[in-house]
Amino acid sequence: MKTILRGFLLMAVWFLGVTVDAANFRTVVIDAGHGGQDLGGQWGQVYEKHLALDTATRLESNLKQLGYQTVMTRRSDYFITLPQRVAIGNSYRNAIFVCVHFNYTWKQQVSGTETYYYSSEGQQLAQCVQAALVRHTHTVDRSAKFARFYVLRNSTLPAILVEGGFVTNESERNLMKSGGFREAIARGVTEGIQTYRRTY
Ligand SMILES: [Zn+2]
Repeated sequence: MKTILRGFLLMAVWFLGVTVDAANFRTVVIDAGHGGQDLGGQWGQVYEKHLALDTATRLESNLKQLGYQTVMTRRSDYFITLPQRVAIGNSYRNAIFVCVHFNYTWKQQVSGTETYYYSSEGQQLAQCVQAALVRHTHTVDRSAKFARFYVLRNSTLPAILVEGGFVTNESERNLMKSGGFREAIARGVTEGIQTYRRTY
């Protein structure tokens, strides 16, 4: 009986140790999509690279206020390769990797937000972030989805890619132009990160 109890206790300690490790990240690596000659999705004067950087910067200040350490893969309008983005993220331990993008499609009626993942930890993070993102932005929920994007596939951290709406959709594009909407995205992602940290 004593042996069983000790075994159980050891297992509990091991399990707690693993859980605490996973949720114990203090650093969020924020990757604003595109930049420089790479404009990303574009409609008239609305460029994804600008929207992504502004939203990423807002996300950074939200997270800093909560005591997280943050790292930006780019801070202004310059080009950075996908391997460089991944290398920056992978140089951190106890961290998560969050890419910020906006969507583009030929079908102009399509709208909504979605969050991509590749790994199973990424999936948990993506589900938390997507739920909070929809709550804050009141956008169509295109859900958390699996994707083999380079930055997700090659990340050693729990990694997600957030798509904050379609530049090709007129009403969503008009929303994106307002700082209030980009702030709502930042708040949603922040809340999702908090939920993930508390839950896993
Ligand atoms: Zn993009």
